[in-house]
Amino acid sequence: MAKDVDEKKYPHIHTRFPPEPNGYLHIGHAKSICLNFGIAREFGGVCNLRMDDTNPAKEDVEYVDSIREDVSWLVSGWASQNLGLKEKGKTPETVSSNGKLDFHLAPVLTTRPLATEPFYASDYFDQIYEYAVALIKKGKAFVCDLTPEETDDYRRNAKASPYRDRGVEENLDLFSRMKAGEFPDGKRSLRAKIDVASPNIWLRDPLLYRIRHAEHHHTGAKWVIYPMYDFAHCLSDYIEGITHSICTLEFEVHRPLYDWILDSLDLPRPLPHQYEFAKLIPSHTIVSKRKLIQLVNDGVVTGWDDPRMPTISGIRRRGIPAGTLRRFAIGVGVTKFISLTDMAVFEHIIRDDLNKMALRRLAVLRPLKVVLTNYPEGKTEDLDAVNNPEDPGAGTRKIPFGRELFIESEDFMENAPPKFFRLKPGGEVRLKYAYIIKCDEVVKDGAGKILELRCTADLDSKTGGATANRKVKGTIHWVSAAHATDAEVRLYDRLFTVPEPDASGDFKAFLNPHSLEVITAKCEPSLKDARPELRYQFERLAYFALDKESKTSKLVFNRTITLKDTWAKESQKA
Ligand code: ATP
Ligand code: MG
Repeated sequence: MAKDVDEKKYPHIHTRFPPEPNGYLHIGHAKSICLNFGIAREFGGVCNLRMDDTNPAKEDVEYVDSIREDVSWLVSGWASQNLGLKEKGKTPETVSSNGKLDFHLAPVLTTRPLATEPFYASDYFDQIYEYAVALIKKGKAFVCDLTPEETDDYRRNAKASPYRDRGVEENLDLFSRMKAGEFPDGKRSLRAKIDVASPNIWLRDPLLYRIRHAEHHHTGAKWVIYPMYDFAHCLSDYIEGITHSICTLEFEVHRPLYDWILDSLDLPRPLPHQYEFAKLIPSHTIVSKRKLIQLVNDGVVTGWDDPRMPTISGIRRRGIPAGTLRRFAIGVGVTKFISLTDMAVFEHIIRDDLNKMALRRLAVLRPLKVVLTNYPEGKTEDLDAVNNPEDPGAGTRKIPFGRELFIESEDFMENAPPKFFRLKPGGEVRLKYAYIIKCDEVVKDGAGKILELRCTADLDSKTGGATANRKVKGTIHWVSAAHATDAEVRLYDRLFTVPEPDASGDFKAFLNPHSLEVITAKCEPSLKDARPELRYQFERLAYFALDKESKTSKLVFNRTITLKDTWAKESQKA
């Protein structure tokens, strides 16, 4: 591409990201978005967001809307300046006054606000139809009466259709009647006349148009014939003035057809060129819309944007910043080798980014009550706590301390092994930003369940105090019981337990039964002011972000990721 730029082969570099609106975008698409927008960004070019909407049966405006939102979110503030501009109600012209097919390269496009319209392949259906007519006139396409099954069969066996040598006039007549809705679905099709014996099956007189009496989400009832992906895609690229059409490896075998269509139409140059790269396939998840839709429809997850989903909307809701997703998508590089990318690579980047930006807060997920018997009843102290040790600019805040506290159940063990440096009967631990405490008594109910711990605090051990520098091995987090605010906390984990859930038959057999646990946590009061655009580290636990369902009356936090990689240990055990 750099060479094309040096040689001034094109007026400007123009890429596109062309999703089919038949599902939500996923992490694999994020890679394609970052690649296409990234190239436009690098070379001062333009990237169009184009709905590749040629199959009315599976497409829907809900998907169009989600795609627009996801792409906006991902490129915003990064490559939004490079997003292609669509002029309202205007599509590039194709048929000039002298009746000869002609085409004007889309003008050098500037920028547009993210909220405006994306491009739609279906906006070009009139032009694509005219291109089909042109191919018929050149004797390069014919109307075929074979059924879809027969067509497949003939093509597989390198057999010519008996309708292959129909005359131009008859083809034009039948094709216009297909368009007029005279025939039912599957009755006839338009096929390219290329080479029935080609070793490349895509060149064996492939389908260009099929009959589909179906409403289209963007064109309504206007069309009953729809162009095939292969026919629409290269022409949409051409119509938009795309220079580099970048797609995944499975389209490599389609490239000769892409070139054949554009060449056969004798279109003014330069023509777009197709390039292929290997899909991003992350471990421990699936990236096929067809399968993701099953998880949604079967209620395995709460929706496309469930924070466990590998969808862009799920990733966003989980609390992963757009810049972090971009850093991953770009960081994994571009190759021609199909391989699995370890989810741990993404998780590492998430931890690294969140560590830099997250505000530290104290929260207790599984509370155990502690009463400090030597601390005055009714007394409250406001202690200083650092917001982010990685970012001095983030400042400090006050957290209230009192006689009754909550600590994490896990941080106490009655019969602790020697290396347990947290709280145990008779043992000491430091409360973060506060005092050293000693456990004197474990209070239990009749059934032996621990109700609370009665402890004494070393009241001189606070910062600045006489025994502040006294060494104790463990430091634990806490919140003041009188000041704590409750929050629903959704503890998300990987959705699948194995690296390749998709490798053998039933991916649903590998669902992680512990991918979500919902608990009520006790949080320091400042979390009442949590903001959706900020990220939080609940100290010693994990990174969290507010969920879209959070309200002032009921806080809801999603666990984005734990502080440490617990899966690495799992796989070492295995
Ligand atoms: P899926 O296999 O999930 O259904 P798709 O390829 O059918 O995806 P499209 O909407 O056609 O989905 O994809 C839009 C663009 O994103 C295409 O150019 C496609 O090549 C690219 N793409 C799809 N999946 C991946 C992936 N895993 N990694 C990188 N690019 C991808
Ligand atoms: Mg596709």
